[in-house]
Amino acid sequence: MAIKYLDLKRINKSFGDDLFKSANKVLNSGWYLKGDETSAFENEFAEYVGTKYCIATGNGLDAITLILEAWKQMYGWTAGDEVIVPANTFIATVLAISRVGLKPILCDPHIDNPTIDEALIERCVTYRTKAIIPVHLYGQMCNMDAINKIARSHGLLVLEDACQAHGAIYNSSVGLELTSLFGKRAGNNSEAAAFSFYPGKNLGCMGDGGAVTTNNKELADYVRMLANYGQQQKYVHEYQGFNSRMDEVQAAILRVKLPRLDKDNARRLEIAHYYSTHICHPAVQILPFVGNNSHVYHVYAIKCRNRDRLREILAENGIETLIHYPIPVHRQEAYKEYATLHLPVSDNWAEEELSLPISPVMTDEEVNQVVDCINQNIF
Ligand SMILES: *Cc1c(COP(=O)(O)O)cnc(C)c1O
Repeated sequence: MAIKYLDLKRINKSFGDDLFKSANKVLNSGWYLKGDETSAFENEFAEYVGTKYCIATGNGLDAITLILEAWKQMYGWTAGDEVIVPANTFIATVLAISRVGLKPILCDPHIDNPTIDEALIERCVTYRTKAIIPVHLYGQMCNMDAINKIARSHGLLVLEDACQAHGAIYNSSVGLELTSLFGKRAGNNSEAAAFSFYPGKNLGCMGDGGAVTTNNKELADYVRMLANYGQQQKYVHEYQGFNSRMDEVQAAILRVKLPRLDKDNARRLEIAHYYSTHICHPAVQILPFVGNNSHVYHVYAIKCRNRDRLREILAENGIETLIHYPIPVHRQEAYKEYATLHLPVSDNWAEEELSLPISPVMTDEEVNQVVDCINQNIF
């Protein structure tokens, strides 16, 4: 039987009628933007993450962009000021920096852990550096203690890109349940954070959606205003704002899915643990679980020198895989001015990474099928 990388239909089905009921309620309400569902979701998500404020946005790219634009205006940053970011991320992280006229400074990640290598960050700092954007890639949280320390010592702001890490907990030695007592959720470990609710994310809606979380009231107010045409009062525009708002249908859907997120992440963790302990092949590198954080396995990544052949074999056996990401930012046409940068670790991730199927609705049989297919083949 074929195994999809991520079976969204099956995920939706697992919620029974609840998603339809909540969407229908909105459709029948006659109110589609900036309503009760969105503000309820904002409150519920802020409470879940542990921050004082949450502002729902149109998508994750906008969430990052809005934070940077707000800081730029609040603190008088100028065009060309610099923001440090890992080179192995989804391009949105870097695009947001460019979009507000700041300059992305690309940094390599660790070799066996996809997050930014904190030991390399200080080499990227110049007199124009204003911020660092650690990305909790694949659901693995960055070393936030080290990053916040570097930021403090250079007077920089930190923006967590938490678009792949909904629910992950920093410094949690007790797993996912007893959260707030033992650690802080992704999105509550720096001055501000961005989330995406793109359908494939651990918490996904049925279209585009995103959020900013922060404990800073001034920033929260600024972001909310910028996301709504720069107005606090209708038709009174204090800033040249954007239009980036979550719609009521998406908020209603997310409110159904949020209460199950911890359980869904726990199932991802279980599958990841099974992969890590059962895949056994001389050509496959299992990546270690780093730190005492709760990884939420948005992506289950392995490395393989002969990655493309392994991917073919899996496909021949009906197993769909992905690569996150096949072309690092500095090799993209869109950033050709970065082509001469020496970022060997990012290049290595692009050459050897393979993402195996993982989702809360995968069955044990399917997981086993993936394991057997890898263990029983030569590549
Ligand atoms: C998904 C994602 C984004 C962008 O989110 P969109 O909602 O697609 O705009 C940004 N950063 C990372 C790391 C992501 O995975």
